[in-house]
Amino acid sequence: MNSETKQLIEKANQVYQENHPNTCWFGRCIFLSWYCDLGTCKFCFRSTIKHKIRYAKKAKRTTESILSDAVIGKVMGWKLEFLTGGYGIFSFEEILEIIKKVSQVYEEKIWINLGVLEKEQLEQLKPYVEGICASIETVEPNLHSQLCPDKPIEPYVKMLKLADKLGFKKSMTVVIGLGEQKEDWNSLSKFIEENRLDLITFYALKPVKGTDFDKSPEVADYVWWIAQTRIKFPKLKITAGLTPKKVDYTEMLLKAGANAITKFPVIRKFATAEAKLIEELVKKSGREFNSSLVEIPSIDWAAEVKKHGLGEKVLEKVLQNVENMEKNISK
Ligand code: SF4
Repeated sequence: MNSETKQLIEKANQVYQENHPNTCWFGRCIFLSWYCDLGTCKFCFRSTIKHKIRYAKKAKRTTESILSDAVIGKVMGWKLEFLTGGYGIFSFEEILEIIKKVSQVYEEKIWINLGVLEKEQLEQLKPYVEGICASIETVEPNLHSQLCPDKPIEPYVKMLKLADKLGFKKSMTVVIGLGEQKEDWNSLSKFIEENRLDLITFYALKPVKGTDFDKSPEVADYVWWIAQTRIKFPKLKITAGLTPKKVDYTEMLLKAGANAITKFPVIRKFATAEAKLIEELVKKSGREFNSSLVEIPSIDWAAEVKKHGLGEKVLEKVLQNVENMEKNISK
């Protein structure tokens, strides 16, 4: 990392410290399904033919499985980054019901990233939803139309404007490593300002076999985007994704000004060497971690499930997942 980037990170860290508490958390996405009806974004694993065959429309998650994620996440201090997926699989009524239940489990309004929603739908979601996330991926228009041919930016912008009027918070996702140039940061900055965003989630591209991409961005390039954003927008909440194979830059992401980290398969990798390394690096960054990736509190899971008015099937799923997490601890 050159001295210019180091200085930039130092400055970003200072801006963070002046504007946010000295804490951070693990943000977890809850997926409604692993299938996407669009499936044409050039970098996404859902665009590979293999995926389309493996994940037919019927491969949606059960409500019990989704709610078990919520119950465990709430206990473990994994903040819900957003509820996502399920385009063209669940009806809006089904999605509304799931959102309602997940928000009841978290005992707060939640964030969602569910494609472009209409005014009437947003109005129905208002009692349970705090914020709306737009999956923009890249703001550079040529790159965007080339990489996401069926997901134009304009409808998302319209939705964000509508969401703003209706009193929702707003966020976007951005993937670094798609071919964007540093000069494109000005367009990102403009997008954040014009759409009055409260939160942004950065991801480092994870190359997927069968797509045109074969490498993740350099760490220095990835954190550059986060640091620039932190310096220009001191109050904005920033979440930064890890890639499961590489968690060793956790400290750098926090120093660059991220409030939270995300994109770690936490149940599967609970208490593994990577999970321990993340916690160690959070500590090294000087921040207090409000989530746990290595220890399970001793609680009565049956009472926890019952407390939220959920049934036996949810409890079954919760216990299965907790058992898997415990197996890693005893290894
Ligand atoms: S990036 Fe999102 S919209 Fe595009 S194919 Fe993947 S899941 Fe679908």
